[in-house]
Amino acid sequence: MYNSFQKYLQKELAEIEAAGLYKNERIIESPQGAEILVKGKKCLNFCANNYLGLANNPELIKAAKEGMDARGFGMASVRFICGCQDLHKKLEEKIAEFFGTEDTILYAACFDANGGVFEPLLGEQDAIISDSLNHASIIDGVRLCKAKRFRYANADMADLEAKLIEAKDCRFKLIATDGVFSMDGNVCPLDKIYELAEKYDAMVMVDESHSAGVVGKTGRGVTERYNLKGKVEIITGTLGKAFGGGVGGFTTGKKEIIDMLRQRSRPYLFSNSLAPGLVAAGIRMFEMMSETNELQDKLHENTDYFLRRMKEEGFDCKPSESAICAVMIYDAAKSQQYAAKMQEEGIFVTGFYYPVVPKGEARIRVQISAAHEREHLDKCIAAFVKVRKEIEG
Ligand SMILES: *Cc1c(COP(=O)(O)O)cnc(C)c1O
Repeated sequence: MYNSFQKYLQKELAEIEAAGLYKNERIIESPQGAEILVKGKKCLNFCANNYLGLANNPELIKAAKEGMDARGFGMASVRFICGCQDLHKKLEEKIAEFFGTEDTILYAACFDANGGVFEPLLGEQDAIISDSLNHASIIDGVRLCKAKRFRYANADMADLEAKLIEAKDCRFKLIATDGVFSMDGNVCPLDKIYELAEKYDAMVMVDESHSAGVVGKTGRGVTERYNLKGKVEIITGTLGKAFGGGVGGFTTGKKEIIDMLRQRSRPYLFSNSLAPGLVAAGIRMFEMMSETNELQDKLHENTDYFLRRMKEEGFDCKPSESAICAVMIYDAAKSQQYAAKMQEEGIFVTGFYYPVVPKGEARIRVQISAAHEREHLDKCIAAFVKVRKEIEG
């Protein structure tokens, strides 16, 4: 049996490779950071979600070790059968405190949080109105839910309003949006989304994975940016990006919603609890966030500096209120040349082109971190200038 399936897979894989879409993994031989080691060579990393530079933070490593010493390595159970540890409850409280919400439920990852948030809450009579550029995990979560599906063009409020009008006879309506969209780095217009939600009696769900720790004066995310802390019904997020870059996800928001997720959300009911080490580090991470705003400030300064200098050098960057800077190249083939040559210069950035971004809008995505020092940013900018000269002449 495998014979014919093997041939089929070999052919599909060859097609992926021929289309230039085959994904090769880079093997890192050091901890994650501004500087990483790849094939024995030092490189600067500008493509991690390590926004606050906490992925190799000594205090978090210490907290994780102490957490393991105190509460062991693993939980070996789902929570509704064996329960959870005091640490898990404490982390849930810390997350709610951070976002100004009522309660929190932890998941193994935000992919699970999004996969398990819609189906338990909404049914056939209801509607989910989703931004067209939402993360894959939101799309999958919506697919698992029986509610009617509406899709509006990215951050297009006229289109959102049209879809809300179309959905007006549905029992409950939920608007779902990413906080920051990962390809442009644009922040969702949550103020206008919230206004429309009030006008059409809808609820709002925001995925703060790319925005938490980054957006807003103190990094509390888009609800801080738009003065809507505690207002939106549902926030999902990850511990795998700005918040230390380990692993873990959460849904935080209105008390009854979280309560219902504890009763019926399948990735919570049928998947293992987060390991104590990760949970202990998460608690320490949120304590650090409440002690100082240093890292958020540094990230904002770094991003402003990078965008300003790139503009001065004549590069066309999308406006960004996040740590994601899209350097527009437009031509798909050229974007791959840029990425390859940047890598030769010891700078890791990613080139994206159709179908990941619209046709003719190929770009290099640069992700800034609080771990970057001024010299790192300058090296990256100098490499862009050098590579442009090599490619454009
Ligand atoms: C990264 C990301 C996720 C997935 O988070 P994990 O915790 O790694 O599963 C979900 N939503 C958005 C918007 C993301 O950017």
